[in-house]
Amino acid sequence: MGSEAHGALHILFFPLMAPGHMLPMVDMAKLFAARGLKPTIFTTPGNVRLIQPSIDNANGSGHQNPIQLFTVPFPSIDGIPDGCENLSSVTQELHVKFFVGLGNLREPFKDSLARLRPDCIVSDMFLPWTADEAAERGMPRLVFHGSNFFTQCAYRSIEHHKVLESLAPGEDTFVIPGLPHRVELRRSTMPDIQTFAPELMDIILQTREAELKSLGTVMNTFYELEPDYADHFCNVMGRRAWNIGPLSLCNKDVADKWRRGNEASITSEFCLNWLDSQEPSSVVYVCFGSLSDFTTAQLREIAAGLEASGRPFVWVVRNHSEEWIPEGLEERVGGKGLIIRGWAPQILILSHVAVGGFLTHCGWNSILEGVSAGLPFVTWPLFADQFYNERLIVDVLKIGVAVGSNEYANKPEERKIIEAAKIEATINELMGDGKDADERREKARALGELAQRAVEKGGSSYRDLDNLISELVEKRSAV
Ligand code: UDP
Repeated sequence: MGSEAHGALHILFFPLMAPGHMLPMVDMAKLFAARGLKPTIFTTPGNVRLIQPSIDNANGSGHQNPIQLFTVPFPSIDGIPDGCENLSSVTQELHVKFFVGLGNLREPFKDSLARLRPDCIVSDMFLPWTADEAAERGMPRLVFHGSNFFTQCAYRSIEHHKVLESLAPGEDTFVIPGLPHRVELRRSTMPDIQTFAPELMDIILQTREAELKSLGTVMNTFYELEPDYADHFCNVMGRRAWNIGPLSLCNKDVADKWRRGNEASITSEFCLNWLDSQEPSSVVYVCFGSLSDFTTAQLREIAAGLEASGRPFVWVVRNHSEEWIPEGLEERVGGKGLIIRGWAPQILILSHVAVGGFLTHCGWNSILEGVSAGLPFVTWPLFADQFYNERLIVDVLKIGVAVGSNEYANKPEERKIIEAAKIEATINELMGDGKDADERREKARALGELAQRAVEKGGSSYRDLDNLISELVEKRSAV
C-alpha cells in the first residue's frame, strides 16, 4: 500500500496481557509488517518471553520495518504477586484486580504515545482508557475484542432485549432475539451479572463507551465464516469492522508455528515424529487454552474417557494440574497417547495431517485455529465468551458436537463433573463413521479451505486489510 510518501504508517499495538489476546495481536503486527507498515508492540518486561521468539522469527524474514517492542515496568497492583504480569499466571479470583490494576499503566502509556508518536493505535477492549489517550492526541484507535461477529451480535442482542431480566423463574432456555439464525442459549451458560464486582461493571461500561469513541474494530475472523453476522454487526448494529483473520495463518512454516507463544514443553522432533507415526485424521487434539483449570476428579474422567475412546490423542495439561496424572495412563495407551504438560505448539499440531478432531474449551483463537486447519470439534465451554462460540460451531456452522458442559463457572470446583462415558461417546461421535460425522468433517474441510483463501492475495481478509490501511493512510494525510 502507498504509505511510503510519508514514511511507513506507524501502528502501536497494545494487547491485554493474556496469551489469547497477545498471540493474535502479535500475529496482527506480523501481518502489518508484511505489508510494509511499522508495528510497535507495547507491553511489560514479564510478557516479552511469550512473544519475543515469534517476533524474532518474523523480523528474520527481512521486512522493511521490523516489529519493535516497547516495554514499561508492570505496575504494582494490590493483591497481585510480584512477577505475575500475565492473566495466565494469576488465579481466576484475581482476574478483576488484574483488569482494574492495568489502569495504572495509563500514565506510562500516555508518555509512550508522546515519545513514539504512532499514526494509529490498536488496543484491547479491556484497556478502554487507551481510546481517550488516542483521542487526546488526535489519532485513530482500533479496538480488538479477540472474538467474532456472532458472539458480539448475540451478546449485544441479549443485552438490548433484556432477555435475562424477562425470563420467568425456572425458565432456562431462550432463543436469542433478532439474529439471522434461530439460536438457543441457556441461562445457566451465562454469568450472573448480579454477582459482578462493581469495579468489573465499571470496566464493562467503560469498554462500551470506549468502543463508540473508536474508529472501529479489527476482527480476527473471515467473512465467509460468518457472513450473516459480519453484515448484522455493521448494518444492524451500526458498527465498523475490518475482518482480517484468521490471524494465525500468517505463521506459515514450521519455525513460525513452533515459536508462537511460550516455550513448548516438548521438542519439535518428538512432537512431529509422534504425529508422523499416526494414521491421517485419526488423532484427537485436546486442549483447554491458557487460562482454564480442572479439578483432579474431572481430569481423571477426561483421562478415562480418552483411554476408553480407543482413539490416539494429544492432551495438553496445564502445569497447575501436575499432580492429577492417573497411574500408568501413558503406559496403558502405549504409543496412542501423547500428554503435553505445560505449553503445546498448538498451531503446529493442528496443521498436521494426523489430527482429525479438536476437543476444545471454545476459546475463540482455538476455534479459529481449528477451523483454519479444517477440523471438526468436540465443544466443552467453561466461561467468558466460550458458550456463545460453542453455539456458532454446533448450531450455525454445524461442525461440532457438544460434550454437555452447561454451567458457566470460572472456578473448576463449581462445575458439574462430565463423566468419562460421556466424553468417550462424544469423541467417538465426532471421530467415528456415519453420515453426520462425515457431513461435519466435510463442512469443516470446506471452511478450512475458505479460511486459507481469505488471507491469500485477493481474498476477503486480504482485501479488508488493504481497505483499512488505505483509510489510515488517508487519515494521516488529512492531519
Ligand atoms: N496455546 C498454545 N499452546 C497451549 C495453550 C494455548 O499455543 O498449550 C495458544 C492457542 O493456540 C491460542 C491461545 O494460546 O492461540 C489461547 O487462546 P484461546 O482464545 O483459544 O483461549 P484462552 O487461553 O484465551 O482461554
